[in-house]
Amino acid sequence: MKQTLTLALSKGRILDDTLPLLAAADIHPLEDIRSSRKLIFDTNHEHLKLIVIRATDVPTYVEYGAADMGIAGKDVLMEHGAQEMYEPVDLEIAKCRLMTAGVKGAAPVVGRRLKVATKFVNVAKAYYAEQGIQADVIKLYGAMELAPLMGLADKIVDIVDTGNTLRANGLQPEELIADISSRMVVGKASMKMKYRLIEPILERLQAAVVANRPGQEGGQ
Ligand code: AMP
Repeated sequence: MKQTLTLALSKGRILDDTLPLLAAADIHPLEDIRSSRKLIFDTNHEHLKLIVIRATDVPTYVEYGAADMGIAGKDVLMEHGAQEMYEPVDLEIAKCRLMTAGVKGAAPVVGRRLKVATKFVNVAKAYYAEQGIQADVIKLYGAMELAPLMGLADKIVDIVDTGNTLRANGLQPEELIADISSRMVVGKASMKMKYRLIEPILERLQAAVVANRPGQEGGQ
């Protein structure tokens, strides 16, 4: 039986950096992904399909084998807990930092548990536990910066790029939890069963990553 491969892409911000990297690795969707409402795309390789889904759903598809491979931010993978997959290539795109942040000049919290608002609940719990700090972690789905201003939380755990969003809301970045970039993930079962198809893709992507590095011709 002819084997097929599915690669799950994260839509949104990461997609803009992913598509040029895929093109450099000779993976071309047959339609313009950004202007289409479709979710599944054929490529110039007969056996390879792309699906475009929410970043947080990428590890789920790969974990259950519904997609063989995926591209997702390290933040998403850390929060999901990516046990059933390998992470063979750091794509070095969509770079940012996962950080704690708090109100500028706020007095330190003493005599009670720290309140932390975030969408990265698992990461935040693990981080504060590691620091030996007693924290109540509150799940939010967006606009984390608002939580300390409204008294919902003392700190937030969020993605920081330039820091402008924090500063615009009177917050400051505090501790670095992890440097983030997008990663190629491959399901463990797929890697075993479809290695012959997957390996050349990984090699071409790795070469595209190197060519894309600042200072390289064609790099950022
Ligand atoms: P900034 O104001 O440049 O620090 O950007 C902060 C906001 O942009 C964060 O709240 C994130 O939601 C978003 N953001 C920045 N970089 C990334 C990234 N690489 N991946 C996902 N979200 C990002």
